[in-house]
Amino acid sequence: MSRKLIVAIDGPSGAGKSTLSKALAKRTGYINIDTGAMYRAVALLAHRQRIDPTDEQALQRLCSSLVIEFVREAGQERVLVNGEDVSRQIRTPEISRLTAKVAACPVVRDALVRLQRKLGQAGGVVLEGRDIGTVVFPHAEVKFFLSASAEERGRRRHEELRAAGVAVDLQQTIAEVEARDAADSIREHAPLKCAEDAVVIDSTQMSIDEVLELMTREIAEKQQSFGGE
Ligand code: C5P
Repeated sequence: MSRKLIVAIDGPSGAGKSTLSKALAKRTGYINIDTGAMYRAVALLAHRQRIDPTDEQALQRLCSSLVIEFVREAGQERVLVNGEDVSRQIRTPEISRLTAKVAACPVVRDALVRLQRKLGQAGGVVLEGRDIGTVVFPHAEVKFFLSASAEERGRRRHEELRAAGVAVDLQQTIAEVEARDAADSIREHAPLKCAEDAVVIDSTQMSIDEVLELMTREIAEKQQSFGGE
């Protein structure tokens, strides 16, 4: 039996984290945990309940009754919040903007980090986010920091949104990606930053398959260093 590792993938929006963590989880048989979807779920509920993103008490109440589930249906990953499938609603540009605000709130981070640790502590998981290798699992056995130029990341996010039927302007998408990364990087609590021991991958000029190969090799080497235990 090989040891079940914790694999952390951090990086800015549109760097390819979601695609790669899903592909990696499939290849390794690990569970994929999209932590961005968890922050997005809180933002969606806050939006519906007209909660101000700086109202810590209201956000704390919201988080205390929050049930988030990841389910697989017909090969597709769905996000359920309090039993409702919100997979599409959490991806709109409006909710993306609100998410970066809600994610800066310490009570939200505390609640979600606790949940993420519970989901991942047994290992055999790929977690993608902004603070996985620095805060959530600083002792994760494998850490990746995935990046790409802002132009390329904006272009990828634009494609993703178009494919999901959301009509958006390319230049505006690039500007929004940059604004969200700036907000994620300068916030006081758990800002986006690269862990010292992370493997840094710039995917600007790389295909998904190339990055996937590189990541798979890293994981296999780490497994070997544990003697295949
Ligand atoms: O990864 P995704 O773009 O879905 O993340 C949405 C937002 O959630 C990010 O812009 C960031 O503000 C927040 N986030 C975070 N910490 C994580 C994952 C996401 O603050 N671990």
